[in-house]
Amino acid sequence: MPTQQHASAINRLLALLNSGGVGFERGVDRMENAERFDAFRLPLIMGTGEKAGEDSLPLARQLRDCLLRLVQHGEDDPDALAMLNQLSKQQSFHYFFAEASDADLREQGGETLIGLALRDVAQLRREGKWNRLKICANPDCKAAYFDTTRARTQRWHSYAVCGNKANVAAFRSRTA
Ligand SMILES: [Zn+2]
Repeated sequence: MPTQQHASAINRLLALLNSGGVGFERGVDRMENAERFDAFRLPLIMGTGEKAGEDSLPLARQLRDCLLRLVQHGEDDPDALAMLNQLSKQQSFHYFFAEASDADLREQGGETLIGLALRDVAQLRREGKWNRLKICANPDCKAAYFDTTRARTQRWHSYAVCGNKANVAAFRSRTA
């Protein structure tokens, strides 16, 4: 069960970080309007098996900006951390106790993408995995990815797509 929780926390945060339509899959901003946002957020919430609550689109955009800044500049960016704390203050969580299981933090009135993402960030930070979230080094891509390498040395979201492109560019500049 913990492994599955990790996977969903990471996948949810990556979906959120990349929801602006980054990289080679550039396209729609999933937060462009209320309908697009609902089509984006509801499957991410339903995956938890809980019922969905109301999400604020302006606050979700703020959360995305804030998380992108934290991932890009590291977790010591004090402005981005202050913004994250401000967003977190507006959430209301309670413990839900179930038989034969640990207690989960749940939200009043159903789960929201913002509430889930905040708990995902807390979980990854607690587990020392937050710094594995990175932004692809290819400036034409900038997709967020999770570095699974032991030494945390992965530079591109996909070596095949962006690593090769960078190699080609380096080769070109050397031979120019
Ligand atoms: Zn990339």
